[in-house]
Amino acid sequence: MTSGAKDFLNEFHWLMDVLHNIDVGLVVLDLEMRVKLWNGFMQNHSARPSADALEHSIFDLFPELPEAWFRRKLQSVTVLHNAAFTTWEQRPYLFRFKNYRVVTGNAEYMYQNCTILPLSDANGEVNHICLIVYDVTEVATNRLQLQKANAQLHHISRTDGLTSLLNRKTWEQSLRHEFKRFQRYHHACSLILFDIDHFKLINDNYGHTAGDEVIRHTARILLDGLRDSDVAGRYGGEEFAVILVDTDAAGAKVVAERLRTNIEASSVLFERHLINYTISLGIAELSPRITDPTMWIDTADRGLYNAKRAGRNQVVVYHT
Ligand code: GH3
Ligand code: MG
Ligand code: MG
Repeated sequence: MTSGAKDFLNEFHWLMDVLHNIDVGLVVLDLEMRVKLWNGFMQNHSARPSADALEHSIFDLFPELPEAWFRRKLQSVTVLHNAAFTTWEQRPYLFRFKNYRVVTGNAEYMYQNCTILPLSDANGEVNHICLIVYDVTEVATNRLQLQKANAQLHHISRTDGLTSLLNRKTWEQSLRHEFKRFQRYHHACSLILFDIDHFKLINDNYGHTAGDEVIRHTARILLDGLRDSDVAGRYGGEEFAVILVDTDAAGAKVVAERLRTNIEASSVLFERHLINYTISLGIAELSPRITDPTMWIDTADRGLYNAKRAGRNQVVVYHT
C-alpha cells in the first residue's frame, strides 16, 4: 500500500470513530429510505445495534415516524438540494427515545432538533440524505418550565388567591371594556354587586378562618350559577361583582335571586359548626344615563345599600 493510500485509510478510520462517538445522532438513508449509516448515538438511544438497523427501511424500524410528512420533507431536500430543519417546537421529536438525563428527568422523551442534509455523490447527484439529530431536552424543558411559570404568574396576577375569582384590578378592566362595548353597540348589560350579610358576626363567632371558608364557598356557588360569558370578580373583602353581558335588569334579577336562594339554602361546615348566612344584592343595568364605569358601580352599590336597609337577604334593582 502506498503511503498516500495508508494516510487516506487512517483518516477514514478516525473520521468514522468521530462519527460513531459524537454526541449527536447521525443517520444516512438512501432514496428507498434504507439505513446506510447508524452511529453510536442512534444505537445507544434506540437500543438497536447497527447490524439490526443497516439496510432496513427507517419506517420499519420506527413505525411511529410520520411517514407522509417525512417523505415530503426528504423530497424537498433531494429535489431542491437544500437542507431542511425541524425543531422541537414544531415536532417534539422525530425518533421517540426515552429521556434518561438526570437534570431533565421530568421529560419523558428526548426533545430533538433535526437537520436533513442532501448528500451528493461523485457525479453531483443526490442519492442519499443525512439526518442529524440533536438532543435538546435541556433547552426544551427549561423553556417549557419557563412558559408554565409565566402562565402561572399571569394567572396569579389576575386572580384573587382565596377564591380564584378575578381580582378587583382585572375585573375592573373587564368592566371598562364592557362599558365601552355598550357605548358602541348598546347591547343590554347588567352589573350585580353583592355583599355577605353580617359577615363581621361570622368572623366574631367562628374566627377569621371560618370567615375565609364562607368567602370561598360563596365564590363556588357564584361560579356554579354563571354562564361562561359572565365576568365574576372579588370586589373587596366579602363583596363580589358580576358583569352579565347581553342581560337586562330583569334577566340579572333572575340570576341574582337564584344566587341569593342558593346561598340561603346552603351552609358551610366548619369545625363541626354549620354556618348559615345570606347575601344582599344590588343590580344596575347600563343605560345612556350612566356616563362612566364608576357611575355604573355606584348605581349597583345604591341597589345593594337599599337591599341592606330593607332588611338584607334580598335583591334590589336600582334604576337611574
Ligand atoms: P353587612 O350586613 O352590613 O354587610 O354587615 P357586615 O358585618 O358584613 O359588614 P361589612 O360588610 O362592613 O363587614 C366586612 C367585614 O369583613 C370586615 C372585615 O373584617 C371582614 N373581612 C374583609 N375581608 C375579609 C377576608 O378576606 N376574610 C375574612 N375572614 N374577613 C374579611
Ligand atoms: Mg362589606
Ligand atoms: Mg357584609
